[in-house]
Amino acid sequence: MSYEGTTLRLEVTSDGIGKLIFDLKDQSANVLNAQAVKELEEVLPVIKKANLKGLIMTSAKDAFVLGADVTEFLTHFKKSEEEMLQWITKTQTLFSEYEDLPFPKVAAIAGFALGGGLEVALTTEYRVLGSKTKIGLPETKLGIMPGWGGTVRLSRLIGADHAMEWIAAGKYVRAEEAMKYGAADAVVAEDKLETAALILLNRAINGELNWEAKREYKKRALKLDKVESMMSFEGGKAFIGATAGPHYPAPVIAVESMQAGARLTRDEAMLCEARAFAKCTKTAAAPHLVQVFLGDQYLKKVSRKITKETKKVSRVGVLGAGIMGGGIAYQTASTGTPSLMKDIKPEQLELGMTEATKLLNKLVSRGKMDTAKMSGVLASITPTLSYGDFKSVDLVVEAVVENEKVKKAVFAEMEDQIREDAVLASNTSTISITRLAEGLKRPENFCGVHFFNPVHRMPLVEIIRGKKTSEETIAKAVQYANQIGKTPIVVNDCPGFLVNRILFPYFNGFAHLINDGVDFKRIDKVMEKFGWPMGPAYLLDVVGIDTACHASKIMAEGFPDRMSFADKTVMEVMYENNRYGQKNGKGFYEYTIDRKGKPKKELNEEVYALIKPVAKKSIEISDEEIVSRMMIPMIIEASRCLEEKIVNTATEVDMGLLLGLGFPPFRTGPLKYADTIGLKSLSEQAKKFADYGALYTLTPFMEDLAKNTKTYY
Ligand code: NAD
Repeated sequence: MSYEGTTLRLEVTSDGIGKLIFDLKDQSANVLNAQAVKELEEVLPVIKKANLKGLIMTSAKDAFVLGADVTEFLTHFKKSEEEMLQWITKTQTLFSEYEDLPFPKVAAIAGFALGGGLEVALTTEYRVLGSKTKIGLPETKLGIMPGWGGTVRLSRLIGADHAMEWIAAGKYVRAEEAMKYGAADAVVAEDKLETAALILLNRAINGELNWEAKREYKKRALKLDKVESMMSFEGGKAFIGATAGPHYPAPVIAVESMQAGARLTRDEAMLCEARAFAKCTKTAAAPHLVQVFLGDQYLKKVSRKITKETKKVSRVGVLGAGIMGGGIAYQTASTGTPSLMKDIKPEQLELGMTEATKLLNKLVSRGKMDTAKMSGVLASITPTLSYGDFKSVDLVVEAVVENEKVKKAVFAEMEDQIREDAVLASNTSTISITRLAEGLKRPENFCGVHFFNPVHRMPLVEIIRGKKTSEETIAKAVQYANQIGKTPIVVNDCPGFLVNRILFPYFNGFAHLINDGVDFKRIDKVMEKFGWPMGPAYLLDVVGIDTACHASKIMAEGFPDRMSFADKTVMEVMYENNRYGQKNGKGFYEYTIDRKGKPKKELNEEVYALIKPVAKKSIEISDEEIVSRMMIPMIIEASRCLEEKIVNTATEVDMGLLLGLGFPPFRTGPLKYADTIGLKSLSEQAKKFADYGALYTLTPFMEDLAKNTKTYY
């Protein structure tokens, strides 16, 4: 007897062994979508009738099962808490029926078993992992938690403390580590997976292994008395709650459910898990974090489409070995693409190499890289003062000083030194890509690749399309960004491109608040509470106030209606007083270097004397109003970028801000945030600030959304 569905099939061998094979039709990877769960339900009676001696769960793909189908989540979230509870309980019961089948089971896990994929594998008594396999329950990263028995079975299998750690952090655990903690029973070479699983299963069938005892262990209460349980879970909750922060409740809800179910049997504990899962789906964070996941998938899909026909970039040239050039050369080399790094000053080349060595040393000391690999990476960066080898590069990233004349002179020189098919890309943050291309012999081969500082840490790269940039050039730049582990977003040329264009109106909102006499420290506190990693004053210090003032002028020229400022801004005051921020130790705050070499921020009240002349008023304002006055200009500019097709979708706008600026993930991005508060309410709020002019004037498109209660998503 056998079964064949579109997501899985059952094969039965002549000696009574069943093989349940996950194999999602027409897809490269397995997910447990609604259809797969339905088929698990359908195949169960077939399995029960087949008189099996044992069952192996396996996959026909490179990876076992990647998890539940996240694209279905947003629909599920619309269910009431009661409906959600029923839906979850039904699948939990199904999984428990698998666990209770009257014969031993082994899961043979290649690649990844994540989320629901691991939960189904936890219903077996034994798990054999490939040597490169990773397993994990990453649901809390999506604002939810395991709901198909994951918290119950994992805590019984590896102990409450480790389970809490894995689940709260959404950790991906390597095969060897999984084995060490008891989540796996064997780790073998990938090509031996099926054989090893069969051997293990036969030993269980023959009675050599006590599979019934293993199963019972998973089904009973945790071996913790009341006091132990309290100490373990209360300590865990405090630590996990502090790490996750108030906007991300799922990890703590998961731990609470484990605590509630710890001293109960499997079936009783399942109910605690189901209730907690339903609770997570009703938090504000869950749909937003799921949207971030879907946004990330969307960007990957767009990238794949763009680069379908594009060859790998085999060598890169970097011009300028400063903060950015050094970082770009390091990032390129450390992800496997050799680079040439050219500067006009030998000391800058030396500095670039020293910085790269420092970063690599950190990786080595954390055990993330061995010294042989480190030497290899360093050897693949060739510092040079000449154009000698530039004919060998596929792409050049220019990161010399931010000066149009200098850049144009460098390009003119450069074009003769590189192959005709090579791409020339500028990392400029403020100069128009279309304008920089003027005078080039091959403007079609030119584009922007805008990295963020620090390069090795910031995930986004804006790929800027100038008027004459060809699609092949864009494809090559996107390919390069992907290759070095960054997320590219293709953006049409405009002042500030996407991220800075949306950021500067937010800074203008800040400047107006200061001129109205609101304390910058309070604004920072309110915006950090809103969810930003740092408030605007602190962010300006990090960006560099000189850089911000320069960029601000460019933005004001580009969009004078809403980005120019009649009065003096607080940024200009700081600049005039040589307070450039972290780079010279003084900005809104003052900075000293701590023992770990990191800047430590302190407030020196004297700074208020400098601000006083621009703080002409002294208004009363609520925290909510501060948020509105900061966020509305940002949302309006985000909408303009979409309306003017600087990018194609709201998803790209939101992901750009999230990856480039650290927009709070639990709010997704400015346009999703606008949807959440509602355009109508936004329009009403904005009208209150009409005196500040175009910065707070919604576009006709936005007013139309407000009028017709429409959304960006
Ligand atoms: P930087 O001053 O640290 O480095 C510039 C480097 O270019 C110096 O090493 C200088 O010696 C070198 N240089 C000057 N003329 C050269 C030439 N003709 N050929 C080769 N090298 C030459 O500047 P940076 O902060 O690294 O910025 C570089 C570029 O990146 C600028 O366009 C800037 O706008 C952009 N950018 C900077 C940041 C940032 O936060 N620093 C962020 C994004 C983009």
